Amino acid sequence: MSKQSLDQLKSSFRGELIQPSDAAYDSARKVYNGMIDKRPRLIARCVDVADVIAAVRFGVDNEMLTAIRGGGHNGAGLAICDDGLVIDLSRMKGIRVNPAAKTVRVEAGCVWGDVDHATHAFGLAAPCGFISSTGVAGLTLGGGIGYLTRRYGLTIDNLLAADLVLADGRFVTASSQENPDLFWAIRGGGGNFGVVTSFEFRLHPVDTVQFGPTFWSLDEASNVLRAYRDFIKSAPEFVGGFFAFLVVPPAPMFPQHLHLKKVCAIVWCSTGSPEQTEAALKPMRSLGNPLLDHVGPTPFPIAQSIFDPLFVPGLQWYWRADNFTDLSDDAIARHLEYAPKIPTMLSTMHLYPVNGAPQRIAKNDTAYSFREALFAEVIVGVDPDPANAQKMTAWCKDYWDALHPFSAGGAYVNFMMEEGQDRVQATYRDNYQRLADIKRKFDPKNFFRVNQNIRPAE
Ligand SMILES: Cc1cc2nc3c(=O)[nH]c(=O)nc-3n(C[C@H](O)[C@H](O)[C@H](O)COP(=O)(O)OP(=O)(O)OC[C@H]3O[C@@H](n4cnc5c(N)ncnc54)[C@H](O)[C@@H]3O)c2cc1C
Repeated sequence: MSKQSLDQLKSSFRGELIQPSDAAYDSARKVYNGMIDKRPRLIARCVDVADVIAAVRFGVDNEMLTAIRGGGHNGAGLAICDDGLVIDLSRMKGIRVNPAAKTVRVEAGCVWGDVDHATHAFGLAAPCGFISSTGVAGLTLGGGIGYLTRRYGLTIDNLLAADLVLADGRFVTASSQENPDLFWAIRGGGGNFGVVTSFEFRLHPVDTVQFGPTFWSLDEASNVLRAYRDFIKSAPEFVGGFFAFLVVPPAPMFPQHLHLKKVCAIVWCSTGSPEQTEAALKPMRSLGNPLLDHVGPTPFPIAQSIFDPLFVPGLQWYWRADNFTDLSDDAIARHLEYAPKIPTMLSTMHLYPVNGAPQRIAKNDTAYSFREALFAEVIVGVDPDPANAQKMTAWCKDYWDALHPFSAGGAYVNFMMEEGQDRVQATYRDNYQRLADIKRKFDPKNFFRVNQNIRPAE
């Protein structure tokens, strides 16, 4: 990058420009996944749209590899790059709720906890994820799977509009009325098309949810998983939550005799009334001999953030994922081979149900393709100690290899590591060509390529 253009950027930039010689550099280049250790040449921490436009122009003029950072949570570390520019939005945290219209406008540096906090004051929520520290931007642009998915759809199904800075520095809005092709592409196509500076979401009347886990011993896992598979196919859409194999953390909220025990669990989150929830969950909660069963009224932001203290930033993190349209008994038998081998206390396998509201949108109506899936599966190796990185990565890969033949063929893009172009194409299936055409229109030189990359059509 030339000194002249850096000086020019400095003269107009209102945020921080952080270089390797600056004291803030090492903390600014850290991302959520402690395995990622990249050294950009410049981090442009923007405070407004003008800063983002200036940063994009600077990156283009200097032909710099450029990453975009929202919440910094991406497992593959796609918020950062070596030797390039990082456009960091983490200081852009404005939120404006419109309670009458039931919408919220969110700047792209927010994490979901920021949004939950703002909307909960009005008894409203946007469909988001399962943890509150995840960035709004990356999660939304990939799709967005969470507790409210079965009832209210993916996060992108609730996206009304987004403002973006394109590779040529233009500022545009994408919505069903303006730039509809771009709006189609950003609903699942990730950060391929520009830097989103703010999002507008539809909100729903979600205030207190019926929330909590049921745990069973691994000896019962086969029955539980088969029953859950059948149950979730026809469960009322107010029933959300997910299935997990996990190690019970030694936390005061769990009885001591369960600490560090490997179990199977369902973490429930229902937006039905207590009575509706009780009736709907009864067949599952009365199955076998639960080791623990506690479902009760919980403010939605508390449900959203309950796992935050476990999954803190800086842990070693490796994951692999796939989509499943069903779960055969053979697939369940494979799960049961790997669950008892969970390699570290925080490693886990989750099956997120994605049937219900997401399936009312056709697979070509947004870039997100796997609308027919029943579950998004993610196998996660997590541990604070880098010495355990190899063994948990090996467990993830072996487990994934065993289940992949039963999968629908592609994954949820936000649960992928850098797995190559074939995996990206398998994930978008017949939406890939349209994405490539839209990429050519809005980013013909593939300036935005630190992502699950869509290559511009030839
Ligand atoms: C602990 C944990 C829990 C998670 N839980 C869920 C969950 O419940 N549901 C779910 O759906 N996903 C979940 N995810 C996955 C998550 O959606 C992705 O990791 C996502 O990339 C995180 O978004 P971010 O803004 O924090 O990402 P970042 O790491 O900041 O960015 C990731 C990528 O998103 C793009 N991007 C980010 N900001 C912008 C922007 N403003 N404009 C354009 N592109 C941008 C860029 O391409 C960037 O490479 C979780 C991840 C973790 C680590």
